[in-house]
Amino acid sequence: MHIAENTLLKRMKVLSFGRQSNRLFNGPVIYWMNRDQRGQDNWGLLYAQKMAENMKVPFVVVFCLQKNFLGAVESHYRFMLEGLKEAAIYLQEKGIPFHLFSQSPETVIPEICDEWNTPLLVTDFNPLRIKRDWEEKVIEQVDCPVHQVDSHNIVPCWEASPKCEYAAYTFRPRILKKLTEFLVEYPVLKEQKYEKTWASNHDWMKHLASEYKHNGLHPPSGTKAAKVGLDDFLDNGLRRYASFSNNPMESAVSKLSPYLHFGQISSARCAIEIMKHAEVDENRENFLEQLIVRKELSDNFCYYQPFYDKTLAFPDWAKKTLAAHEHDHREYLYTMEELDQCLTHDLLWNAAQKEMKLTGYLHGYLRMYWAKKIVEWTPNAETAQQIAIYLNDTYLLDGRDPNGYAGIAWSVGGIHDRAWAERPVFGKIRYMNEKGCRRKFDVDGYIEYVGNL
Ligand SMILES: Cc1cc2nc3c(=O)[nH]c(=O)nc-3n(C[C@H](O)[C@H](O)[C@H](O)COP(=O)(O)OP(=O)(O)OC[C@H]3O[C@@H](n4cnc5c(N)ncnc54)[C@H](O)[C@@H]3O)c2cc1C
Repeated sequence: MHIAENTLLKRMKVLSFGRQSNRLFNGPVIYWMNRDQRGQDNWGLLYAQKMAENMKVPFVVVFCLQKNFLGAVESHYRFMLEGLKEAAIYLQEKGIPFHLFSQSPETVIPEICDEWNTPLLVTDFNPLRIKRDWEEKVIEQVDCPVHQVDSHNIVPCWEASPKCEYAAYTFRPRILKKLTEFLVEYPVLKEQKYEKTWASNHDWMKHLASEYKHNGLHPPSGTKAAKVGLDDFLDNGLRRYASFSNNPMESAVSKLSPYLHFGQISSARCAIEIMKHAEVDENRENFLEQLIVRKELSDNFCYYQPFYDKTLAFPDWAKKTLAAHEHDHREYLYTMEELDQCLTHDLLWNAAQKEMKLTGYLHGYLRMYWAKKIVEWTPNAETAQQIAIYLNDTYLLDGRDPNGYAGIAWSVGGIHDRAWAERPVFGKIRYMNEKGCRRKFDVDGYIEYVGNL
């Protein structure tokens, strides 16, 4: 496990060295779990355990449940809490206490660090503004050092690239170069002698989980369900990925995005299993391109671009062309409510919006079409981007993710893309229409399928 231990240190970033204090920090190391909601295959947990061992103190896991998190709704909370319950049980079986607090982290984390005399706070990595703001506020209030471990990306975001990358072709060689070093098997999380002093508050969590209703059309949640999904994709979807991943009527994609978003499975685990069980061919390479290059490029975008959810993040050529076409005639204009209620003239778009609302999922090809049409039917790019983000984050289970902000900025504002032939409204931004969809898949069959959901 030498390689793993070295990479473990490279995954870590010191956010704060702590403040000088006369206190005796003899309490537990706290692992503040946020984005990587799993007990297995979690570098942050492994790091916290190792540090606790070195300091000869126990370690405990803390999760803060924030209401109205970036517009998340009841079914998202349900999906998350069921996953957390599974993670909590796994940790408790290892003697590692798990605490869930229903307060904002900026309040609760400093309080418990103080009360428990914590010598070290470890947290996971999330490039989104909300987590970075929380971290800043926590750091201002705690005396102990704060370390961050990127357990979400296969190559830690800051190791993959030191800057905001222009496109996949500039990012790909950088990240692929580092894969051998970082894509390694995980060590096993060790058992900890049961710590009564900081015993879990899991009863409370069970009670909370029952407050959130389950949407019958949403998939089951948790690490076990994610692994079942991965196995099923390995057996049935992967061999058709290269030919059919642009076809929403074929089951050729993995549908792993909600599990990856909530960190119920790590993308490294998916990549390791795929590399173990599938031969090197176009299917495997195309899938790994999405899972590694495209996914980690989204984290790169949100980490280095503070305006990842604003038109300010668009490249200059895109800003210019969108401004030049802002006053072009639009044949249809819809309000946010009309779009939300699937009330457009376009049956394919309405079906996509309906599928998203009912199931919390939408095929990747349709996500592009869905967002591009919002550009066509709203007065300007700012409005299109804000509406797309709102609907995306309200209805998709995998919403509120760097992939979503990057995918929407790609669709509306050409990030990670290039200029195309100029046309009304879109200017040089890539355009999509229903005819193109008909060439790729059975559009009427899809509309019928959603109608029957
Ligand atoms: C307008 C728009 C909005 C999007 N919103 C989200 C979102 O909110 N959350 C989200 O996770 N993804 C989003 N995506 C990216 C992508 O469409 C989804 O990740 C993918 O369709 C999820 O389905 P899957 O797991 O079956 O994908 P698969 O094709 O099986 O791919 C496996 C994994 O690779 C990653 N991946 C695949 N395609 C992309 C991509 N284009 N960019 C980055 N990573 C990718 C995802 O983690 C995905 O789960 C969006 C894309 C667009 C164009």
